Amino acid sequence: MSKPLLNQTAIVTGGSSGIGEGIAKAMAAAGANVVVNFAHGRDAADSIVQSIRSDGGTAISVGADVSSEQDVLAMFSQTLEEFQSIDILIANAGIQQDAGFTEMTLDQWNKVLGVNLTGQFLCAREATKQFIKQGVRDGVSCAAGKIICMSSVHQIIPWAGHVNYAASKGGVDLMMKSIAQEIAGHRIRVNSIAPGAIQTPINKPAWDNKESLDALMTLIPYGRIGVPEDIAKAAVWLASDESDYVHGTTLYVDGGMTLYPGFADNG
Ligand code: NAD
Repeated sequence: MSKPLLNQTAIVTGGSSGIGEGIAKAMAAAGANVVVNFAHGRDAADSIVQSIRSDGGTAISVGADVSSEQDVLAMFSQTLEEFQSIDILIANAGIQQDAGFTEMTLDQWNKVLGVNLTGQFLCAREATKQFIKQGVRDGVSCAAGKIICMSSVHQIIPWAGHVNYAASKGGVDLMMKSIAQEIAGHRIRVNSIAPGAIQTPINKPAWDNKESLDALMTLIPYGRIGVPEDIAKAAVWLASDESDYVHGTTLYVDGGMTLYPGFADNG
């Protein structure tokens, strides 16, 4: 199997579950040293590290709440201590705390923005400092570093009952593009992936019973729910030199959800 990320180190935030787990395993299979970040539940992260190692890969688990500046700084220090360089940031950690708009508490708003937007800001800023310090490492990658922000189709599709989440992902979009515009000259590539509906714990009520799954299918022209591997393959490509001229853009991996299928029969 080809190893396009050999001799590179990838931090995957929220790597202990769902999409992050899929990405951590795929990055390791592509040759990267992987930092599996977790906020709670070291056991899940450790078992992913074990699985990567038993497949011949290299990984460590690092606990850090991405919404805490102090935790993020410590995670970057620990990564450098272990692997000496950082080449790829997958800013993936994210949460939902849903509520009708008039019932939404300030705490629910702040928590979601804190993890989904501030967390990505803190990690991207620390990654950028390190990428600038390292510069392009000849023979390793064409870029000095790659940042991949995990957004969502809800960076463009409004989502009633999830105002905090949609606002955080809309924020990720312009944050990603603004960072990309600012640091392109350092040969750092910055992009987002916007998943559609992917089968993970974050959206279990949307797929764990037939009625919900049938309703979900009306939103997905391609006719199946996504799996973490769908996103992981896109992430490996975006982190590799195969996508070297891709910068400041969002790759939608959504089975066509952003084609607004409700309009298909509306002619
Ligand atoms: P998940 O709940 O399985 O995973 C979320 C991960 O983030 C977990 O590992 C969790 O421990 C971690 N996390 C939560 N708070 C954290 C914090 N403060 N610090 C560090 N880590 C923290 O859900 P998922 O579906 O794998 O979600 C991953 C990302 O993909 C999120 O950003 C989510 O918004 C995005 N996304 C998911 C879907 C989907 O359909 N599953 C769709 C679009 C976007």
